[in-house]
Amino acid sequence: MESGLEREIKIRIASPPLKKIEEELDRLAKTLGTEEQTDYYFDKENMELTKGDKALRLRMTDTRSELTYKGPRLSDKVKARAELSLMLEDPESMRKILLNLGYNIILIVKKRRKNYDYRGAVISLDRVEELGDFMEIEANALDDDGLISLTKELMKLLKVQGEFETRSYAQLLALKTGRSV
Ligand code: CA
Repeated sequence: MESGLEREIKIRIASPPLKKIEEELDRLAKTLGTEEQTDYYFDKENMELTKGDKALRLRMTDTRSELTYKGPRLSDKVKARAELSLMLEDPESMRKILLNLGYNIILIVKKRRKNYDYRGAVISLDRVEELGDFMEIEANALDDDGLISLTKELMKLLKVQGEFETRSYAQLLALKTGRSV
């Protein structure tokens, strides 16, 4: 997987329906595939990762497993943070290693994600369990302003109405379920 810096914008979609945006993107962009993703977030009892704005995530899909570290946010305009990922052959052993090191699963985020390539940026259409529908635009090669203008252009093109959301799905779900994350 990619390693380095993650730079993305997340939009909470108010309208139109996700299906409609999907149909438009099927025409306008290159489809990269659809996945059902289950993300397990780990932290210690004292929540040291969460307090340091870091995340340790085990992602499982039908076909692959991936371990990801995310560092603290570097920008307040867009979501930019260090990101390091590796593919796992044996996620169950990884989970046991983490448990033995004192990391527990603090949150599970489930979503259906469809990815597109649009001019070198990755657009993700997400239906997140308990949270709703979102669109993420990730373009590591652009700077903050470049990413913001690409996002505005796409929202216009797809007639998407919605709010920018700088919090992660894990944070949003933690807030919703009353956890202290
Ligand atoms: Ca991302």
